[in-house]
Amino acid sequence: MSRFLDSRFRELEPYVPGEQPAGGYIKLNTNEFPFPPAPGVRRALAALEEETPALYPDPEAGTLIRALAAHYGVASEEVFLGNGSDEVLAFAFMAFCGKDRGVAFPEVSYGFYPVYAALLGIDALRVPLRPDWSIDLEPYAGCGRTVFIANPNAPTGLALPSEAIERLLQSNPGCPVVADEAYVDFGASSSVPLTARYDNLLVVQTFSKSRGLAGARLGYAIGNRELIQDLNTMKFSFNPYSVNRFSMAAGLAALEEGEYYRDRCRQIQAIREETMEALSRLGFEGTPSAANFLFVRHPGVPGRRLYEKLRERGVLVRHFGGAKLQDYLRISVGTPEQMTALTAALEQILEEER
Ligand SMILES: *Cc1c(COP(=O)(O)O)cnc(C)c1O
Repeated sequence: MSRFLDSRFRELEPYVPGEQPAGGYIKLNTNEFPFPPAPGVRRALAALEEETPALYPDPEAGTLIRALAAHYGVASEEVFLGNGSDEVLAFAFMAFCGKDRGVAFPEVSYGFYPVYAALLGIDALRVPLRPDWSIDLEPYAGCGRTVFIANPNAPTGLALPSEAIERLLQSNPGCPVVADEAYVDFGASSSVPLTARYDNLLVVQTFSKSRGLAGARLGYAIGNRELIQDLNTMKFSFNPYSVNRFSMAAGLAALEEGEYYRDRCRQIQAIREETMEALSRLGFEGTPSAANFLFVRHPGVPGRRLYEKLRERGVLVRHFGGAKLQDYLRISVGTPEQMTALTAALEQILEEER
């Protein structure tokens, strides 16, 4: 820390992303898409025009926003595009929390929420989960705060039905509710249709997990046009060009390849169920995940130890510190070959640990 860092940030603990090593690992630690891009995405990237790098991107992101609007059956004015859903979430924190309203989110959820709250000086209420890791929505009713709910939740993988989100919206008519649907395409129900009836709902999604474009950094929000306008006020006060031309071309092509990505998402769900069965046979316990990862523990071996032993064998998974999560591993669902390597490595490790 330099002696110049503003005193507001002296205590800030930044988000710690999963490692991105140069190679040589079976990477199951950041919930990336394990299959190749759709042919149309490859073609779009290969066909970029010569002037693409030299020109600023369209600050309105008109083409991709219109395509997203058509895809979800909403108006273009109801769609916001950002540099990954991380940026969209950051703009939502900036726009809808602060002086007038604090924020509330589950105590165990996406690790970026408390970081944004701390960065922006927002008062945060962290609501405990139930003992089975499910989200108890009762404490959010009339809480007077902007609510962020990851659905499915991370790292638990548990999804709420959209009826539960609807009750949350009804119990908080005076506050925005942000549904972070990063993993919704792996088997949960989306709340996008509710945006037509609730002016306090913002649904955030991403191209990173189910469309294989984590490297492109594309996220978006769907909601009432005034909420979207507010996000644009944040973006145009910060970085109007936050989404680049290369990524927008890739995103447009990925939207046109809907069938390819739907098929792969179904495949990921099937692999997830097979892997959970294989891990159960090894004595692991876990949640019924609706996401592209498993959240598991082994009663005989601490999470940290499993993480380290897997790493030594070239398999990277995610282990979180802290009393609540230290027993658990979050394991991304990869290809069948990757899952076979994972279960074989775990079988060996458990044998050694006996
Ligand atoms: C991965 C993830 C994000 C961030 O996704 P990007 O679009 O890559 O920034 C947001 N929320 C949750 C819950 C996630 O797991």
